Amino acid sequence: MTVSTDIVNFSVVERFSLFLKSRRLAHAYFFLGPKGIGKLETALAVSKLVNCENLKEGMFCDECSVCVKINNGNHPDIHVLEDDGESIKIENIRTLISSIQLRSFEARTKVFLIQNAERLTIEASNALLKTLEEPSRGSLIILTTSMPEHLLATIRSRCQVVHFFSLANASAKKELIERQRCEEGMSHFLAHFSDGCLGNMDQDYQGIFDRKNKAINEFIFEEDSEAYFKTILSDKDMMRESMRFLFLWFKDLMMIKNGVPQQYLANIDRVSDLKYFEKRYCFKNIEEVLSDIIMTQKAVDENFNVKVPLAIIKEKIWKK
Ligand SMILES: [Zn+2]
Repeated sequence: MTVSTDIVNFSVVERFSLFLKSRRLAHAYFFLGPKGIGKLETALAVSKLVNCENLKEGMFCDECSVCVKINNGNHPDIHVLEDDGESIKIENIRTLISSIQLRSFEARTKVFLIQNAERLTIEASNALLKTLEEPSRGSLIILTTSMPEHLLATIRSRCQVVHFFSLANASAKKELIERQRCEEGMSHFLAHFSDGCLGNMDQDYQGIFDRKNKAINEFIFEEDSEAYFKTILSDKDMMRESMRFLFLWFKDLMMIKNGVPQQYLANIDRVSDLKYFEKRYCFKNIEEVLSDIIMTQKAVDENFNVKVPLAIIKEKIWKK
């Protein structure tokens, strides 16, 4: 594997340079942000930074033997857990832990990169947890994910979180406000809903926004949603869309719990509702609902009847 430097987030690398200078480098970081935004590339740049033999004004040189080896993917102390699309199993983590315990070959700081950490099985997460609790000197662990809600809260809480935010969302929002004359809250939501790519969604912006609020009202605020459920159950596209609305809502709740600033939420048009509900749910409740939503989405795709899963989601939301 060779490293592309095009999408390295240099403001993150500079932050690490400051940590290094002030000796505040933690032993585990958690890079969180959308797919394709350069989390792995930035993590590799950080690996160069903490090991470069010829730092220039606090930045790696990209020319010394260490930097070159990392760029070519053959540095013996930089371990990247390759993502093969499968879950990350306990065996993978055990191998990693045994390398953490070994003396490094040549690096000042051994680096362990775990991509798509949401794929860690429960067993693997628990094995990793112990290492995160008792860090070994001279090693740095970086986990990356675009789905933080799928990661055990205990893992998250033992790492320093570094957020990577999509610039695409901001420009999509600007486009909606300036050219389409959509109002702020609606533009903000639609930018998130489309993942910053307006071409991903239908042009009936007001319609989508109204359906979003209808879905939230039905799931969260109305005690009896029978009629609404009947409608979405009869239309696969509506069902999918409705699950995505609900997913974004619970993802927002999770972000609020994690102290993420308000501008990064999808539903800024309903922040007071979110804040009110955030207090009613613990991490575990939110994680449960999110995983039920994901299972239901999968079931819809496989043409299963999701009447029962839908009722279960509603019940979990309402059980308090
Ligand atoms: Zn170098």
